[in-house]
Amino acid sequence: MALVLAMAAAIWFAGRRTGAPANARWLTIALLYVLVLALQVALPVGHPFREATGGSAGEWLVLGGLGAIVWAYTRGLARVRSRVRPENRPRPATSGTFGEGELDRYARHVVLREIGGPGQRRLKEARVLVVGAGGLGAPALQYLAAAGVGTIGVIDGDEVEATNLQRQVIHTDERIGMPKVFSAEAAMRALNPYVEVRPYHRRLTEEIAAELVADYDLILDGTDHFPTRFLVNRTAVAARKPLVAAALSQWEGQISLYEPSAEKPCYECIFPEAPAPGLAPSCAEAGVLGPLPGVVGALMAVEAVKRITGAGETLAGRMLIYDALYGETRIIALRRRPDCPVCGEA
Ligand SMILES: [Zn+2]
Repeated sequence: MALVLAMAAAIWFAGRRTGAPANARWLTIALLYVLVLALQVALPVGHPFREATGGSAGEWLVLGGLGAIVWAYTRGLARVRSRVRPENRPRPATSGTFGEGELDRYARHVVLREIGGPGQRRLKEARVLVVGAGGLGAPALQYLAAAGVGTIGVIDGDEVEATNLQRQVIHTDERIGMPKVFSAEAAMRALNPYVEVRPYHRRLTEEIAAELVADYDLILDGTDHFPTRFLVNRTAVAARKPLVAAALSQWEGQISLYEPSAEKPCYECIFPEAPAPGLAPSCAEAGVLGPLPGVVGALMAVEAVKRITGAGETLAGRMLIYDALYGETRIIALRRRPDCPVCGEA
């Protein structure tokens, strides 16, 4: 019997050295087993071949039975393991958990001490509404989508025009004439299929503002239309939602985070009334440097990520002013007005 077992071992190791697959080696050993069993049954007792290979079929049958039990057990174990292993489970793309391959995309966030895995999860669970898919909204939307903000709403009633493309790089030449929100949606989906984008092709109005803002945790305002800005601020204050608002003119941009529910000023504390006509000309009238909205819109996304993850200090109660023409930045402190008609005691 020892002779046969030695032969089986020799087959196994010789096969391994020559690179034969394990299945082929097991098959050869099984053939050897069948041959030996046949010798035990076919040859008369005392035959030298039968004596040399064990002498009786009983021991071989017991050994074969044990081998079959071990084989069945390991197969069963492998099947159970493959069922439990996470990569065999289907995963949803945009639920509270990260989809397969999704965490890889945020690896540079996850290694940041101030964001990490918990911060990235907060970003995924966050719902951010961006008002305006123009100069400021466009870069903000791109970076929010890339950063993995789970739900991004965007409201804008305009269509893409050729004059937008000098600065609104979320849109493309072939999407001229398409509603900006759908163009932005296409760009965000192409950038990050794991985020949910909700486009609203209309201007923000009094009738829909409260209901829309209620669906989101954080509002970003990048419009250049003063009545809309005041509406966004009033709605955000009433709903106790933080508001990141920015504005541009020619070579200069400014940005702050407005949050009276955290004892910080609201937009109307700082800008109590719309400037007189002509004093704050629009981009169309006065012109604007192409990369400037890129700088300030990206800062809006920075503030959003900080506010959502709790990293660092936001610009609440401070305004950052960037003068691109002279390469200067300034920070000015902002104070709440107790008599503010929006967030004041009255
Ligand atoms: Zn106020």
